[in-house]
Amino acid sequence: MKRREFCLSALGAGVAAAAPARYIFADSHSITDLPAVTSAGGETTLEAAAITELGDSMRGALLLSGDDGYDHARAVWNGMIDRNPALIARCEGAADVSHALTFARERDLLVSVRGGGHSISGKSVCEGGLMIDMSDMNSVRIDQSGGTARADGGCLEGHIDREAALLGLATTGGIVSHTGAAGLTLGGGFGRICRKYGMACDNLIGADIVTPNGQLRHVSDEDNADLMWALRGGGSNFGVVTALEYRLYPQSTTVVAGDVVFAWKDARDALMFYAEHGADMPDELNLNVIARTLPDTGPVVAFEAVWCGDPAKADAALAPLRAVGNPVSDTIAAVPYAKFQTRGDNSNRHGIRMYMKSSFVNDFTPELVDEVIDVHRESPTYAIFFMQSGGAVNRRSPGDTAYPYRSAHSNMMVWHQWHDMESPDEREARIAQVREDWARLQKFTHGFYVNLNDEDTARTHTNYGANYERLVRVKNQYDPTNLMRLNANIKPTV
Ligand SMILES: Cc1cc2nc3c(=O)[nH]c(=O)nc-3n(C[C@H](O)[C@H](O)[C@H](O)COP(=O)(O)OP(=O)(O)OC[C@H]3O[C@@H](n4cnc5c(N)ncnc54)[C@H](O)[C@@H]3O)c2cc1C
Repeated sequence: MKRREFCLSALGAGVAAAAPARYIFADSHSITDLPAVTSAGGETTLEAAAITELGDSMRGALLLSGDDGYDHARAVWNGMIDRNPALIARCEGAADVSHALTFARERDLLVSVRGGGHSISGKSVCEGGLMIDMSDMNSVRIDQSGGTARADGGCLEGHIDREAALLGLATTGGIVSHTGAAGLTLGGGFGRICRKYGMACDNLIGADIVTPNGQLRHVSDEDNADLMWALRGGGSNFGVVTALEYRLYPQSTTVVAGDVVFAWKDARDALMFYAEHGADMPDELNLNVIARTLPDTGPVVAFEAVWCGDPAKADAALAPLRAVGNPVSDTIAAVPYAKFQTRGDNSNRHGIRMYMKSSFVNDFTPELVDEVIDVHRESPTYAIFFMQSGGAVNRRSPGDTAYPYRSAHSNMMVWHQWHDMESPDEREARIAQVREDWARLQKFTHGFYVNLNDEDTARTHTNYGANYERLVRVKNQYDPTNLMRLNANIKPTV
């Protein structure tokens, strides 16, 4: 069986995707029968011979607890998650994925799939089951003349941004470059240019997917069209995506972007500006807004502005925002887009600890503004964040893609996020505060974003609205036993 050793020193634990690796072909790896967990949470035993056979069938490494690299591979973004899979399959190709899924299906084993590891609830790492780790599958190929990108299923957003930018192209990707492209796209995919080009899922034109029966399929609007529709927002319910094909757009490598920050005394005016104008701004302008506390300034409302249109028109587009009050700072300037896409990477680095509540806001009313100002806590770990929707995102109709939320003004999030290990009391206090604040803010929301809330499975069916029945039909066809269940789960009915 192949085993792997990782060099962790330069990166620190928890930055799984970028770790350099080398193979060790061990002649003898003493494997014994292993206790494991079934998909329904029951106990099972994996026989040593079957584990060895799976390891031998794979090009990538199969890791067990105690193996070099095991702890590194099981670490996900949210440092509060600490789970131990029975096996970790570090896949290097679709064949590895197929062998791993078949192994799990035949034993009714609990399965998780890890892309970038950003699921805040830690859906990509399972306790006692089989973790399918896609992070070694991360090549990107740009077809310049066709205007498309083909990204492996373990690619991070930054991989695509960088390769596309080299050729003056871009497609919508997330605002932190180490987010997994598959996870983000399958659930929707907001980004700094989504108002201009649509969401990541809107630009997904094809995919390769290994369905739970182990079969590799190509999907597009022509092949397996129902599955293609479902992958555009239905999450990881239908199989493991081994490649994604995106539509790209000619995009200047430089955008006009930065922060306009208002002191708390101007918070209401700033948020009212967002309420009144957020829905009808030019598609080229994206404004994400955060209420947070800065070390020197205290509580602020900060707009992250990105203008991806003609630079000569940026000042005119930004003038209404700048006229809101007296910003305490304005850092807007011409910056390389792909570099700007990495600006949050360090403050959101792997191993950070986060508790969050979130949902969509359709009507950004003065009452919501008042509540946000009243609820907001002066703490360096606390924030209320709005990720803007609208523009091209909202010009699709809810049934066009599985992702149905085409009326949202923005997605509201409330969180505590901290770097240091907390005491149990501190953790509980932070979680309780977010829940308390959410109890006041939730009434202003409609539905929720499955990529940020993959726990609320009781409401998943209403959340997808009229699309849910079609999603269930696709689920019944491709995953009738619900092998792919660690997600915002669509339950099969067969
Ligand atoms: C710091 C941070 C920044 C974020 N920024 C944005 C943003 O800008 N825009 C936005 O829309 N969302 C954003 N999100 C939310 C993000 O889209 C989701 O957390 C997404 O699910 C992350 O995907 P991942 O591959 O990194 O995570 P993982 O935890 O690896 O996976 C998340 C889910 O996707 C599944 N999955 C992953 N890869 C595959 C695959 N190849 N095939 C099938 N299923 C797969 C997993 O099984 C799991 O259910 C952010 C989250 C974080 C923590």
